[in-house]
Amino acid sequence: MVNRTLCRTPSVLLYHGVPRTGRCGEVDAARFETQVLFLKRHFAFIHPDQVGTRRAFNARIQLLLTFDDGFRNNAEVVAPILRRNRVPAIFFISSRHVTPGKYLFSAYLAMLLRHFKANGFKLRGEFMDMRLNYRQGTLSRVTRWLSQLKPYPTALYRVLDEEMPRLEDFVSPDDMRNECAGMSEDQVQVRELARDPLFRVGAHTVDHPRLEECERTEAFCQITENKLWLERVSGQTCDTIAYPYGNYSRETIELCRLAGLDRGYAALQKFASDPDWEIPRIGIYSPSVDLLGFKVVWARALALDYWPRSLTSVIGKKERNCPLPGSVGIADETSASMRTNTSETFFE
Ligand SMILES: [Zn+2]
Repeated sequence: MVNRTLCRTPSVLLYHGVPRTGRCGEVDAARFETQVLFLKRHFAFIHPDQVGTRRAFNARIQLLLTFDDGFRNNAEVVAPILRRNRVPAIFFISSRHVTPGKYLFSAYLAMLLRHFKANGFKLRGEFMDMRLNYRQGTLSRVTRWLSQLKPYPTALYRVLDEEMPRLEDFVSPDDMRNECAGMSEDQVQVRELARDPLFRVGAHTVDHPRLEECERTEAFCQITENKLWLERVSGQTCDTIAYPYGNYSRETIELCRLAGLDRGYAALQKFASDPDWEIPRIGIYSPSVDLLGFKVVWARALALDYWPRSLTSVIGKKERNCPLPGSVGIADETSASMRTNTSETFFE
């Protein structure tokens, strides 16, 4: 009965990194495979090429898996599980972190939050208090300051590369590979994903910025350079994008069209005017299969941006659009501060 009454377009799930071994409450390899088997029992997976289709009236709910950011664990952990279970998916890959020593801003912050060992560090002459009780607040303030630096995101990454603590100084190579590294520098991992008929790869920009915060030229470069890189590596046309942080505007969609893309994956639908450019997705951050099943069934409703705030906190609809892997809440702060607070400076 539920099948008959619900929307007939596919539900699209949004995952990010899946570490080989995770902490309690995280989706790691074993919990992810449990989720895949659960989904396979109750729903019908579709290939990314079928995303525009509608299921028959009585057919099972259709489901597409998507993975954002292009972490190395997508190639080393996720892909083998999906291949073993013959489950299709699309991977949206940012190019920045294919270069060793370069990290996505959100991933860098997550690692700092989780692994930094000292009581603090100096930034522009000020002591950043990283004691456990102060760590989250400190990183929220640093995030706000970094996010308003111009030009965005070039200035932000310059500070990250030149003035912030180096991850290599306090994170083990294993943890780096498991949690935050991009795919292999020789690009073999990206190529193997792209060439597997089970999968597709799509654009996710070069540096993973909030596209609405970028100057128009910068946003266009972020999109086109990433698309051309993916095409060069895969030997295939790249016609799909997922907006980093689920952040986009009408101008973003226009730039994506100009870049030669023809489909965009969002998180929450903002305009609901062109379904091909605002494919809604629901984020999966919990290993609970009960919550997973609920989200799949109600994915379309959950991805509309008009729920009362009080209700979203109950159903978890507005949990992180593009979270820091393993974080404890900085992601929300990060995206919120980048969205609303561009005037406040930390170093006044
Ligand atoms: Zn992302």
